[in-house]
Amino acid sequence: MDNGHEDHVGGGERAARRDEAVRAAVEQGLLGPGIPIVGLLDITGIRESAAELRAAFDAVVAPGTPVLHAFAVKATPLVPVLRLLHDEGVGAEVASPGELALARAAGVAPERTVLDSPAKTPAELREALALGIAVNADNPQELDRIDGLMRSAPSRSPIGIRVNPQVGGGSIEALSTATATSKFGVALRDEGAREWVVRAYGERPWLTRLHAHTGSQGIPLSRMTDGVAQTYALAEEINRRIGRRQVDTIDIGGGLPVNFASEATTPTYAQYARMLREAVPRLFDGRYGLVTEFGRSLLAKHGTVVARVEYTKSAGGRPVAVTHAGVQVATRTVYAPGTWPLRIAAYDAKGRPKEGPAVVQDVAGPACFAGDLLAEGRALPLLEQGDYAAALDTGAYYFAHHYAYNSLARPGIHGFAPDGTGGVAFATVRAPQTLEEIVAEAGGAHATALTTLRTPDRR
Ligand SMILES: *Cc1c(COP(=O)(O)O)cnc(C)c1O
Repeated sequence: MDNGHEDHVGGGERAARRDEAVRAAVEQGLLGPGIPIVGLLDITGIRESAAELRAAFDAVVAPGTPVLHAFAVKATPLVPVLRLLHDEGVGAEVASPGELALARAAGVAPERTVLDSPAKTPAELREALALGIAVNADNPQELDRIDGLMRSAPSRSPIGIRVNPQVGGGSIEALSTATATSKFGVALRDEGAREWVVRAYGERPWLTRLHAHTGSQGIPLSRMTDGVAQTYALAEEINRRIGRRQVDTIDIGGGLPVNFASEATTPTYAQYARMLREAVPRLFDGRYGLVTEFGRSLLAKHGTVVARVEYTKSAGGRPVAVTHAGVQVATRTVYAPGTWPLRIAAYDAKGRPKEGPAVVQDVAGPACFAGDLLAEGRALPLLEQGDYAAALDTGAYYFAHHYAYNSLARPGIHGFAPDGTGGVAFATVRAPQTLEEIVAEAGGAHATALTTLRTPDRR
């Protein structure tokens, strides 16, 4: 695992931009003794990834094929990020009323929005159908509800069924959505399931899409490709057996894994698109529109959380740097360090890449439990009081996913880009959470609620 300062093929410019942004954040006072933690987002990098995604699929589909890239909002649920992606031609995949509200606040149009989720309420479904948002039904009971809504009011929403091709899981159990017993979609290999799906389409001319998302991070590309191939084969079977080209769009989900071990972007969208074209060439011949739902792969490598080293100490002979980034911004890494290791880069008190011999040390967070470590036994230039430690590749599922342990405040998040004169310009994406907000969100307005509610006198 590298420490982020070396130059890597495909990532050297990104690493250089990051180093400049950290230094500029310190210089411009976004980070310092009074503001000991901040999240940074590389606007240039996000735009590049969006462009790579578009180009990868443009290169494999027949000219004129409708393609909607819908960003999985859960990966980075921040309105300005959704707006930036919208500006890059990327829509939104949402899976809760909150995510839909974020997409709408970002100006993502209903026809560029897809609603998934295994637990949609009647009210959510009604709203989505009224707005014309694409909906993927997760199960037969949900399809019943949609039947009722379609009978009461026609909708222009494209509607599909999510299937689980049960191609198997990957190295991370919690993120494997295509196992035999996954909670998502209609389990295609279960007895009678395939017949049920074909009949469901035959009985409902408005069912025009088919959806599968075979997993996130840890799923081999070949398995993802297999899941798409099975989904395509099912679409062909449905259309053949009902005698019309009713399924006109296939939603292949997201799940491209991210390389957390070095600066390199691998695998790339272009590699995945080429693999898909080899495995399922006819998916791209223009008969089907395509929807994709990538999340982590669009944002992860463009985010950095930078935290000040408040103290350094030594325990059992090992140096420990106590920083302000821990479980509240890197929940997965702290609770499952073996599955989610993060690269850590060391910067000095002025935000310059730290030089010096590598020393094995722990990089700890501020939370009050022993396991709150960003990295354990990591070889880095020795961190000193007032330095900064940066957790790299944290643009998705990290600092935007605050975990309120110890009532630690949500850090501010800033986007950065070149300022045109050789410097770095910042834009606030999310202001840091204030103490007033922490108190309010912790029931501050109801301080006496429990002492004034009289329970029957038991004496
Ligand atoms: C989480 C999720 C995605 C995005 O997965 P990534 O691994 O972030 O690309 C896409 N579609 C659905 C249905 C999801 O649940």
